[in-house]
Amino acid sequence: MDTRPSLFRLTTTRVAILLACSTVVAGAHADRGKAAPGVQSSVNLPEQSQGKPPAWAGKAFRQGVVSAANPYAAEAGAKILEQGGNAVDAAVAVAYALNVVEPQSAGIGGGGFMMIHMAKTGQTVIIDSREEAPAGATPSMFVGQPFSRRSLQGVAVGIPGMVRGTEMAVNSYGKLSLSQVLQPAIALADGGFAATPRFVSSTACSSATSRAKNSPAAADYFCPGGDFRAVGSLVTNKPLAQTFRQIATHGADCFYRYMPEKGCDIALGIIEGQQYNQPHLSPIGKGGSMTLDDLAQYQAKLRTPIEGSYRGHRIKSMPPPSSGALTVLQILKLVERFPLGDASQGYGFGTVKTANVMADAMRLAFADRAIWMGDADFAPVPAKGLLANDYVAMRSQLITPGARLDPNPAADDPRPYEVAGLSPATRLAVAAPPVSHENGTTHFSVVDKWGNVVSYTNTIESGYGIGVFAGYQRPDGSFKNHGFLLNNELTDFNTSPTINPFTGTAGFNDVEPGKRPRSSMAPSMIFNPDGSPLMAYGSPGGATIINSVVNVTINLIDHGMTMQEAVDAPRLSVSSANPSITVDPWFPAATVTALGPLGLGYAVNLSDVGSVQTVLIEPKTGKQYGAADARREGTVIGLPRSGGR
Ligand code: GLU
Repeated sequence: MDTRPSLFRLTTTRVAILLACSTVVAGAHADRGKAAPGVQSSVNLPEQSQGKPPAWAGKAFRQGVVSAANPYAAEAGAKILEQGGNAVDAAVAVAYALNVVEPQSAGIGGGGFMMIHMAKTGQTVIIDSREEAPAGATPSMFVGQPFSRRSLQGVAVGIPGMVRGTEMAVNSYGKLSLSQVLQPAIALADGGFAATPRFVSSTACSSATSRAKNSPAAADYFCPGGDFRAVGSLVTNKPLAQTFRQIATHGADCFYRYMPEKGCDIALGIIEGQQYNQPHLSPIGKGGSMTLDDLAQYQAKLRTPIEGSYRGHRIKSMPPPSSGALTVLQILKLVERFPLGDASQGYGFGTVKTANVMADAMRLAFADRAIWMGDADFAPVPAKGLLANDYVAMRSQLITPGARLDPNPAADDPRPYEVAGLSPATRLAVAAPPVSHENGTTHFSVVDKWGNVVSYTNTIESGYGIGVFAGYQRPDGSFKNHGFLLNNELTDFNTSPTINPFTGTAGFNDVEPGKRPRSSMAPSMIFNPDGSPLMAYGSPGGATIINSVVNVTINLIDHGMTMQEAVDAPRLSVSSANPSITVDPWFPAATVTALGPLGLGYAVNLSDVGSVQTVLIEPKTGKQYGAADARREGTVIGLPRSGGR
């Protein structure tokens, strides 16, 4: 079943030809488990809904698979695997390459979460390179500024984390040096690449207020002469190649410390770049407060993933400061009592009953997310309570197939389920709908021939971040451009000071100096019962990231789809307590009608949801598979290039 519209399939083919490498965009043919007795009283559920591995199809490999949202980036990772690097080295190479070829989504001006599973030790860790609020940040720094303004000014820039994070990854878990894994990205930035359709974004140059045109250097780069670049035209980024060379020669310190004696001036460019205040607009905006000291003290943090289970499958995902794991796992637990895969009970893929249950589970989980999730280094996030069986069972009772949850659900109090003896507080809060601002961020997954696996989501927040390159004015007035965009990640904090209605203390996601803004990024892995990794996956898409991961999980486990089918299938997303559902435009039309004003009364919007890149290892044989998302320029490269099976 290829549920993608033909436009998506064409784009993928075109990109694959453009690169002329052994790109596999996995064809999707069901290889389903046999019909088996269902989890409840049902009769026809796939085996994976009873804890068996999900189905897979397509070409299999043994020397490693890279799955990324851009063909050049996938190629960079494959090259590093061929040079003897492991999955961590390859993932870092992909991250730097994406900074060149998908600069609007992620790069060294931002940060991300890299989940690593090492085959030898059986250890799964996450390197948290999330941006951090500078010492001068305050809870009210965004007050009075609408998103369209604050997200395009220096005040939104967090201390970038990717360079420290990738250095930690390579040094602690890789086989090659940071300098070696940077080489493919340096070659791409220096020698150039053919502009892909996504690079030539359809909105980047058309409007005066485009993020890509927020500053003169960015406008010159993305829209030279004020117009779009042509698809296929050669694009270079020499300043970025130079920045990468500085990092390759001197390490991450050359990014975080101003050391002119060594030729390290990137820090100066970051500080000056984040002072940007939209001087061409009235009133002039607000620059950031980041100092050289803020930059110099930044550290990546090693985190332990949160683990949960869904129908017998072990799933690990991203803990705070992300809301990823807690919300993904809570949604899955909320729907677990419903036989979503059983068409004989009116469920099955894309039906009104399944969509109704999924949507209301998302609304419940997002209501809790708004109150209880933030950087746990600063706020007492009740992570155990939010996933406690009794708490989730109580919340799940609120879901009734055939009726929309009404009124909108509010957060409840999971703390009594966390710590015995606490009495539930009065419920006061209704979750505020988060602002939707998609298009940035990218997810990629890698497995190597040793069985190490990486699941990495990386971001500069909005597409093009604040639309400003790091750089500074030289004494002669010319601009020293460092070639990378600065993030606007601090807009993921609450926009004004709030009070947690249960604790009476400051909102868990209010701005504080040194704090990391709440994320939705959810790099995830599914594990076999013996603890070996089965699959790595994740997505971009702001708060909808959580729902993309949930959809793919349910497609695999409840609907018996192959990995590629699970990625292609149209998704459903709700990212607040409000009854407003977004579905991919090719979601079953009759279901859209039945969910909308004519039926259950949800507001249903049509829009792309996410971009999921996955790798999977067949437990019995060790064969490796990849699947990528045609919503962007998803590309899978398997090794050896001579072919699979
Ligand atoms: N900044 C977002 C987060 O960390 C990701 C942005 C996006 O995917 O559009 O959740």
